Amino acid sequence: MYSAELINEPFGDPGVYVGCKYRRESLLFDLGDLHRLTPRKLLKVGHIFVSHTHMDHFVGFDRLLRLFLGRDKHLYVFGPAGFLSQLEHKLMAYTWNLVENYTNDFTIVATEVTPERMVTKSYECRNAFHSEAIEKNGPFNGTLVETDFFRITTAILDHKIPCLAFCFEERHHFNILKTVLDEMNLPTGAWLMKLKEHLTNGDDDATPVRIWRRDPEGGRQESYRPLGELRGIVKITPGLKIGYVADAVYNEANAAAIVRLVAGADILFIETPFLDEDAETAAKKYHLTARQAGFLARESQVKRIIPFHFSPKYKPTPQALAEEAIRAFNGDI
Ligand SMILES: [Zn+2]
Repeated sequence: MYSAELINEPFGDPGVYVGCKYRRESLLFDLGDLHRLTPRKLLKVGHIFVSHTHMDHFVGFDRLLRLFLGRDKHLYVFGPAGFLSQLEHKLMAYTWNLVENYTNDFTIVATEVTPERMVTKSYECRNAFHSEAIEKNGPFNGTLVETDFFRITTAILDHKIPCLAFCFEERHHFNILKTVLDEMNLPTGAWLMKLKEHLTNGDDDATPVRIWRRDPEGGRQESYRPLGELRGIVKITPGLKIGYVADAVYNEANAAAIVRLVAGADILFIETPFLDEDAETAAKKYHLTARQAGFLARESQVKRIIPFHFSPKYKPTPQALAEEAIRAFNGDI
């Protein structure tokens, strides 16, 4: 149901677009150059996760703002320490003397993430984006968002400044097995939604589940069965898991945090700006090498690695970074 793609080619500004086939509910990791995303695609975005505010990760904010202005929409944006102040400076760089008459309710709901706390503030267009009082100030436990469809977790990495890595996890799919339903002589219908709810909540086998159907006379027949007897009707398949690791130095703490965050992911987008032969430069600039990125992907036992954020230095040998990362991922170096 969800799919993920790099916004730009790997030498371009970093960023990933996560789209959903059936619902207008896309996500963005990082806000660099966004011109390759069509307005149609961008307008589906509801949640944005900014790793840090180096320009190549944040310059796209203005394009997004321009596009959403005048629309009824709440945009949820997340970023690291200092994020709220930087967002406010971006918003205050424009003149908003005419917006109080807008009939729509465009609002940016921004959350700043630090090792201890998550602080949320809302910026309403009609209020000239002036920051209201802090809306939420809660402890940070690693989870940024949890909806009925997905969860986003984060790890705070060291890039000489705090830099957030992200993990998108789609919720489990519950597939109803019609043949099993028929064999058990049970009806289809709304009660199956309730059954899925019991499974989502992790209720125990003894939990009574109400099964109802309409009879031909328009009445309702109902019965109860324990949850344990009904589990066979539902086949649970795991949802998609996507990791996004942008800028980080290679050190023990970062490595452990990355592996913990993206363990077992289906796809890992991970930065590979430098070759191993330039490991010294990479360390000085607080970036990974392709070999380190591949090694981390291997340690995390992800299924697939997508290297990105290539340094322009390697433009004459465009394949080299990806090849080194993949060799390390396969355990060949
Ligand atoms: Zn960067």
